[in-house]
Amino acid sequence: MNTRSAIRLADDLDVLSREEIERLRHRNAARMLDAARATPAVLRRWPQLADVRDLEGLTALPPLTSAELAAGRPPHSAEFLLGGDGPGMAIRSSGTSRTPKMMYHSWEFNAQISALGARGVRAGARRPPRRVANCLFAAELNGAFLFAQEVIRLCAARTFPLGSTMGVGHTAEVIAEHAVDTLIAAPGFGVDVLTGAAPERLTALRTFLYIGEGLGAEREKAVTAALPGLEIRSLAYSTTETGCIGYQCAYQTGTAHHVHEDAVVVEVVDEETGAPLPAGEAGEVLVTPLSDTGMALFRYRIGDRGRLSDRPCACGSRARVLTLLGRAAQSLTVDSETFSTDHLMGRLAEVGVTDPAACQLQVRWEGNRYRVRLLLSPSAPSAATPEAVAAALAGGLEIHAVVTGPRCAGFTVERVDPARFARTARGKVPTLYEHPATA
Ligand SMILES: [Zn+2]
Repeated sequence: MNTRSAIRLADDLDVLSREEIERLRHRNAARMLDAARATPAVLRRWPQLADVRDLEGLTALPPLTSAELAAGRPPHSAEFLLGGDGPGMAIRSSGTSRTPKMMYHSWEFNAQISALGARGVRAGARRPPRRVANCLFAAELNGAFLFAQEVIRLCAARTFPLGSTMGVGHTAEVIAEHAVDTLIAAPGFGVDVLTGAAPERLTALRTFLYIGEGLGAEREKAVTAALPGLEIRSLAYSTTETGCIGYQCAYQTGTAHHVHEDAVVVEVVDEETGAPLPAGEAGEVLVTPLSDTGMALFRYRIGDRGRLSDRPCACGSRARVLTLLGRAAQSLTVDSETFSTDHLMGRLAEVGVTDPAACQLQVRWEGNRYRVRLLLSPSAPSAATPEAVAAALAGGLEIHAVVTGPRCAGFTVERVDPARFARTARGKVPTLYEHPATA
């Protein structure tokens, strides 16, 4: 690690005792608190920090919302910048607020994220990657592609930086010609390649590492049917705002990850009251990345629901296990793009639709494609024609990407009585609704 950061990471978290993990996370939390208190703008943002003595004291701080982070984003504000403005990488998060969130990661924090990513790949790999196709999206202030590049370098493998715009055929050609053994991609593009290319071109592939969203049982089944024996794993549980949060050991599948406990503090709290929940109970996930450079985020609401377990994992690691249970209320992730009710309503206001109960955006996955239906109550303004709605949505980065994306099989705007809107198992009528998978 660079000398500007005093954060120290374990080379291998899984060999540490619980006491050693605790010592390391308390140590790194103290470094972060020192850095935050030494920055006047950050201390003004969180005056309560003056009284926070240690890691446990963090729970005295209010959770940080996505909208608050967007409002205080650089370059418009310095309230989150540890040590003020400095060198590093500017990336933009797929948003749940109306304003996109700009993140200024210091190079030190960036190196920390890459080290965690590589540590996570090593922890779970049955076969270490040797030749890796990096098929993540590589532009528009997206951080994932460069993250994967660094992880591949730190794993001492060769990278084929293909990106995600070359098309399935051309990508498979490179995989075949160079006997690529590992594919890194977002689930959407990855599944397109794995199920769409001629299987004889993919015979060298051993591992699929996905990132950006969950893969889901249906898509996993499709990949396994096309390429039996392919190892399918999460590259990392990571967000643009917080960096790496979790990694999968060889015993974990689906949405279960060990937490990088020396580098992030994960809490699960009651979604309504914000009260901390004991291990085993499901609630909203809050994340505090432990960094003394870059941006200060305390108890950030990443928008996921989950459950923490402190029962020892079969792999022997004492690092806690976080199982993700979908998005928190009022936001949706579709093909790696995240948006919220707030975000949707901001766009629909342009056509006079202002009541969230008078509309419902439905997403239905069919294999690796999805359809989007926007239902509007018959009482919605007549100006809200399909054409006008489409034009309004075009101004919203993530929603526009969802309704025009390569895996969107159709987008319709329909007049439907709200009594016929879809309901959740608990009987709620959400503004954003994803049809459950028909497995
Ligand atoms: Zn494990």
